[in-house]
Amino acid sequence: MPWLRGNLHAHTTFSDGVKEPAQLVAAYEALGYDFLAITDHENWIDDRYWNAIPRVSSKLLLFHGIELNWRRFDQHIGKVSGERETLHVLNHPARYQLSVAQTLERIRRIGVGGITLDAIEVTDTGQRQPIYESSEIPLVKIATGRRARAHPLRSGVGRRRRQARPRRDHSRDPRRRVPARLRERLACLRPSH
Ligand SMILES: [Zn+2]
Repeated sequence: MPWLRGNLHAHTTFSDGVKEPAQLVAAYEALGYDFLAITDHENWIDDRYWNAIPRVSSKLLLFHGIELNWRRFDQHIGKVSGERETLHVLNHPARYQLSVAQTLERIRRIGVGGITLDAIEVTDTGQRQPIYESSEIPLVKIATGRRARAHPLRSGVGRRRRQARPRRDHSRDPRRRVPARLRERLACLRPSH
């Protein structure tokens, strides 16, 4: 089976995301993703959410979901609905500064409360949090990338190139050319990314 690239935790303007669902899906399509789960905050959404998300057409395998809050100790849980099964993810434990032991205790208590967790998010807003990759945690490990950081090197170079470029194309005017030393630096940056 081929590897698929996807994201199981994404928000839209229905909660605190910055893109509408169709824009979000288009952005992930452009990045070459295979699947995406839209999981807006449960307490922000209303019926319009459940009407809107299924209407979004996409090349992606698109899952509908929500992000729950386990109120007894403020723990976000991703709930991703498939056709037959539902996936529950313990989201961003780093945000609560949990040790591995505290994480295990939360997983146990959420289980007693009725949700059997399948996976744990080992990132927080795109940042890797290696302690949760521990084999002591008996859940599938999921990384959620922050889309803006999906290509950190490329975007870094892009910024530098934009700053270095003159505002208009003055390349025919030798006085306006990008200084040779800067051009060399940019040339060094380009091939490696
Ligand atoms: Zn969250």
